[in-house]
Amino acid sequence: MSENVLVTGAGGFIGHHLVSFLKEKGYWVRGVDIKNPEYSASSADEFKLLDLRQWDSCLEATQGIDVVYNLAADMGGIGYITAFLADIARNNTLINTHMIEAARTNKVERFFYSSSACIYPSYLQESPDVTPLKESDAYPADPEEGYGWEKLYMEKMCQYYTEDYGLKTRVARFHNVYGPLGTYDGGKEKAPAAICRKVALADDGDEIEIWGDGQQTRSFMYIDDCVKGIYEITNLDNSKPLNLGMDQMITVDQLVDIVSEVSGKNLIKKHDLTKPQGVRGRNSDNSELNNILGWAPEYSLQDGLSITYNWIKDELNNKK
Ligand code: NAD
Repeated sequence: MSENVLVTGAGGFIGHHLVSFLKEKGYWVRGVDIKNPEYSASSADEFKLLDLRQWDSCLEATQGIDVVYNLAADMGGIGYITAFLADIARNNTLINTHMIEAARTNKVERFFYSSSACIYPSYLQESPDVTPLKESDAYPADPEEGYGWEKLYMEKMCQYYTEDYGLKTRVARFHNVYGPLGTYDGGKEKAPAAICRKVALADDGDEIEIWGDGQQTRSFMYIDDCVKGIYEITNLDNSKPLNLGMDQMITVDQLVDIVSEVSGKNLIKKHDLTKPQGVRGRNSDNSELNNILGWAPEYSLQDGLSITYNWIKDELNNKK
């Protein structure tokens, strides 16, 4: 394999796994992040600590690179992304606009961008029994404040760079990714990791706090499906944004039930209605992905949550 690839956000959850996946495929991989990986060392051939909000850092990161996987972002779960709108919008706009221009300047061939289901309009996600979101539903736009607007804006930037400069941009809209090596505490964790942590820390028969009334719905994609999808989408001849998510929708209460079952504990759910819960319902329509790729995420929630729960439980035990 002669291609040199760059993964930004390589110190984070998905980036870390993507580096390992690309190494196994035989690529030479440069990882870049503003911080080192938290839970285990990166397998990148070269790992650089750079702040990608800075133009010079983006130029350095893309030097000698054929394919960019641009995953670096200031992000977190619903509590985080609803609390820091200005910081998130500013930081991510700086990272993304500098990264794509640096990729063009350094003659990168392909540029993958990690967008999000948060770009979909809130008016289509008002019921738990929501119709799965297809790619064309993105407009008329009404995305999640801050984080969602910035993602949608960068999708447009990718389109313009393809049209004006011929840069091969690839965009995937991730729907709730979970798995080992994801943040599970500190305020940036997402629902599956937060629930696994709460269940792991609880004793049999305890109460655990659930944000919202537990009837909000989502779909959740295991990390192995995510990195496979990123790779396949990057190598497609298609620059239109594609959903990358599971199409099995469950309520947050059902998610808690699966994790409780995996743990072998009987727990009482205490719903906190003062906490943010995001849109009421969200699911991925994978028809387009299936049409173009002949594949869609498939890892079962039971298997994925079992691996994730056990990893978080072990992490917590090791910390004691
Ligand atoms: P993560 O927070 O674990 O990883 C993001 C990484 O970007 C972090 O390690 C962070 O340090 C790094 N970063 C932030 N600011 C930086 C800067 N200025 N310079 C260099 N690095 C910087 O998040 P993740 O879950 O791995 O997400 C990866 C990408 O996927 C992000 O773009 C995110 O928006 C997108 N996404 C994730 C999900 C999900 O469910 N995890 C869903 C939709 C979209």
